[in-house]
Amino acid sequence: MSDAPSEQNCYFCRVSSGQADPFIYENRSFVGIFDTNPVNPGHALVIPRRHVASIFDLNEEEELDYFDAIRGVKGVIEATDLADLYQNMLDRDYLKNRPKDHIVTVLRLPFLGDKPEAYTVGNNDGREAGRSIDHLHVILLPRYQGDVENPRGGIRNVIPSRANYQRR
Ligand SMILES: [Zn+2]
Repeated sequence: MSDAPSEQNCYFCRVSSGQADPFIYENRSFVGIFDTNPVNPGHALVIPRRHVASIFDLNEEEELDYFDAIRGVKGVIEATDLADLYQNMLDRDYLKNRPKDHIVTVLRLPFLGDKPEAYTVGNNDGREAGRSIDHLHVILLPRYQGDVENPRGGIRNVIPSRANYQRR
């Protein structure tokens, strides 16, 4: 068990202790959930049970469990009927008071139901990188042909003005 104190108002502490979103995966150090504001079908989060802000704060045991967790969650994403998942999410009690716009949008995507062709694996490690909740949550984002007009460069595009590395 973790010896770090949980933060009372930390949403991902509530998740990792089983008081919020249902787990789709769990191991010794991590839990996995489907994001309820999906930006693409299958958008999932991998969250350490221990309250740590940064991936660089993981201990050795957690580092080992991290790769198991992202592989495990990937497997769940690919084994899940995502159309069914989002349809059911609309009626779930735990989502009663949350906005559902993303779920409704994802349900209309033409590639919903396809097997992911690629993944963006991401972690906003710090406020300046866009982190809004200071408890590590690694994003496992399935990618599909045509989900954006031009995916080239991927994560580079978080800084759009310097993202382009194609020769002119
Ligand atoms: Zn926390």
